[in-house]
Amino acid sequence: MPPFPRHLIDGYRTFASQRLPTEQSRYRELSERGQSPEVMVIGCCDSRVSPEVIFDAGPGELFVVRNIANLVPVYQPDENAHGVSAALEFAVNVLRVKHILVLGHAQCGGIRAFIDKIEPLSPGDFIGKWMAMFVKPGEKVEQRDHETMADFTVRIEKAAVFRSLENLMTFPFVRGAVERGELNLHGAYFGVAEGSLFVLDQVTKEFRGAREVLGE
Ligand SMILES: [Zn+2]
Repeated sequence: MPPFPRHLIDGYRTFASQRLPTEQSRYRELSERGQSPEVMVIGCCDSRVSPEVIFDAGPGELFVVRNIANLVPVYQPDENAHGVSAALEFAVNVLRVKHILVLGHAQCGGIRAFIDKIEPLSPGDFIGKWMAMFVKPGEKVEQRDHETMADFTVRIEKAAVFRSLENLMTFPFVRGAVERGELNLHGAYFGVAEGSLFVLDQVTKEFRGAREVLGE
């Protein structure tokens, strides 16, 4: 058996000696009472974009689904298994979360793979098929005249947030909860290099710096 990674053991030791003592009662309470997070986050697998770190969240606070490029598929009740849909079903119908946040980010490898139309990485071409759902039938995603590659990439990274928010509303239980005023949908974008957070203004459809939103 290969040795368990040493740095993970060291990390757990640090958690157990420093963080756990202050959070032990919280863990115990959550274990007895069950979880009741108010926020679901749909984020990317990217190791630099951890929702719990970015939002300084403790145990039980965020119900998180992470996948390549923070995508939500359209509602598709068929014979196939759908991971994001299963998580949504539980978050909305059982946990009754009050907010769903789609968190996009800069330098997204999934978006880059999509833009560069990379060759399949395995015979299954799982990333290719996953990213393909980002595009609606007949829709073209192309670099505009005079748009730099960097600007194009950011535009598509943000478009992934818009598309996921749009697709969320195709789930009848999500739409129903939103229309009853029990659930709010949000978008945000994390700038990795600066550690900056931009929040989607749903009226102007623009991302604004989190500090600006707070009036700081
Ligand atoms: Zn990503």
